[in-house]
Amino acid sequence: MRRRIKSRGKSPAMIPYLDTEAWLRKNPDALFECPNQPGNLKLTPQACAKRYLTANEPRWANIGAEPFPIFVFKMNLIPCRNCKTGAEMASRHQVQAA
Ligand code: SF4
Repeated sequence: MRRRIKSRGKSPAMIPYLDTEAWLRKNPDALFECPNQPGNLKLTPQACAKRYLTANEPRWANIGAEPFPIFVFKMNLIPCRNCKTGAEMASRHQVQAA
């Protein structure tokens, strides 16, 4: 049995508008560039601390061929495991692992 595709009509898009350029102009020191992640990743110190703590959680210690999205998530955290910047951010900011 085929499902009918619901028309969205003329309702506005559900994507919230965020002027990132204006936000960055107001908060020029809010983000820093990660020295280890590829692609000049810019993130907040709190996000960095969270990544560091998550990367060092025992549940993420083994990397297997699990569902692909989880595998990619774990691989993405590898540079954060022994990162000195991450350790410093984690000691400065009170965050919990994801
Ligand atoms: S913990 Fe290190 S590698 Fe991970 S985001 Fe922070 S600075 Fe980058």
